[in-house]
Amino acid sequence: MSTFPTNTTVPNAVIDRLQRPLRSLRVSVIDRCDLRCRYCMPEEHYAWLPKDDLLGADEIEQAVSAFAESGVDRVRITGGEPLLRARLEEIVERIAHVSSISDLAMTTNGMQLAQRAADLRRAGLRRVTISLDSLNRARLEHLTRRDALDSVLRGIDAAISVFDTVKINTVVMRDFNDDELVDLIEYGKSLGAEIRFIEYMDVGGATNWSQDQVVDRREILTRLEEHYGPIATDGAQGAAPAARFRLQDGTRFGIIASVSQPFCGACDRSRLTADGLWYLCLYAGQGHDLRTQLRAGVDRQILVDYIHSTWEERSDRGAEVRLETPARSALFQIDDLREDPHREMHTRGG
Ligand code: SAM
Ligand code: SF4
Ligand code: SF4
Repeated sequence: MSTFPTNTTVPNAVIDRLQRPLRSLRVSVIDRCDLRCRYCMPEEHYAWLPKDDLLGADEIEQAVSAFAESGVDRVRITGGEPLLRARLEEIVERIAHVSSISDLAMTTNGMQLAQRAADLRRAGLRRVTISLDSLNRARLEHLTRRDALDSVLRGIDAAISVFDTVKINTVVMRDFNDDELVDLIEYGKSLGAEIRFIEYMDVGGATNWSQDQVVDRREILTRLEEHYGPIATDGAQGAAPAARFRLQDGTRFGIIASVSQPFCGACDRSRLTADGLWYLCLYAGQGHDLRTQLRAGVDRQILVDYIHSTWEERSDRGAEVRLETPARSALFQIDDLREDPHREMHTRGG
């Protein structure tokens, strides 16, 4: 069950055209990554955002505090790989100090987390989610195109010893890791970390996506029930992306069913890219340029008003629209992505 108050308790939350409040912001701090997961960054070389365009710690803090004034109380730091961002701890500290941000989390591939976990906790990070798609070294290397397993497992161990809440994200892909569902649950259970299975999505970057590789929520549950027996739902999903479930021994896990059962109807999330474009939906065609406004030194109230009026016009429901698309195939081919790097998942902030 979501641990957060419901929308109606936030007095200044602005509501979009589909009656969804603005509550949660994903802040990408960098577009670069030290892995090359095939479902996200299938190419070896990318054109990175110009360094000068990346928002500085000051600018990120200003933006987050304007969002906080518009009702945002949950921030998730992401990327690209956030641990590659120089002075990430300073960014964390500044966001943590924005009053009314009650939940500050980060999604990371964990590669450099062993060295950084304690400093990030001290800076004010509350929770981490680490991506781990396989416990098999060769498989993970095939997927990420780097020998990643030892570093990620060390990162997870460090996170467990430092943070109260650690979750593990696993993208489930047919004939890749769909035989590891039980092993991953057992691994999470042994550490006290909740596993969240994610349906393989046709986001920018997933140029090789096809529907038949998606192992959907129903199939994930069926496979787990074959092993564990009946599985119960664990509270209402609310605005959270993951539906949560409970095994008979009390072990909890989540499934993010963005492909088969999208949750756009309750979506209170938006994304700020590392170069200051604000996207109202993971699938949105265009972002709204906050960087220019921040660098022009606009009055804070003007920025808050801009956020309000933009959110009020929001009607995006990207994943639902994709579900309605007949003969669905990859959203973009590589040439489309090269035209606008902001279409990439690693730029948009997954
Ligand atoms: N680099 C960090 C990481 O991997 O955790 C943060 C950014 S990454 C884009 C955020 C999340 O998006 C990861 O959990 C990743 O597995 C997920 N993701 C990326 N591409 C995906 C896809 N095609 N389908 C589903 N999830 C995807
Ligand atoms: Fe990097 Fe995360 Fe994308 Fe993998 S999913 S390539 S770790 S940004
Ligand atoms: Fe929200 Fe867009 Fe994702 Fe739907 S597709 S849940 S509207 S971000």
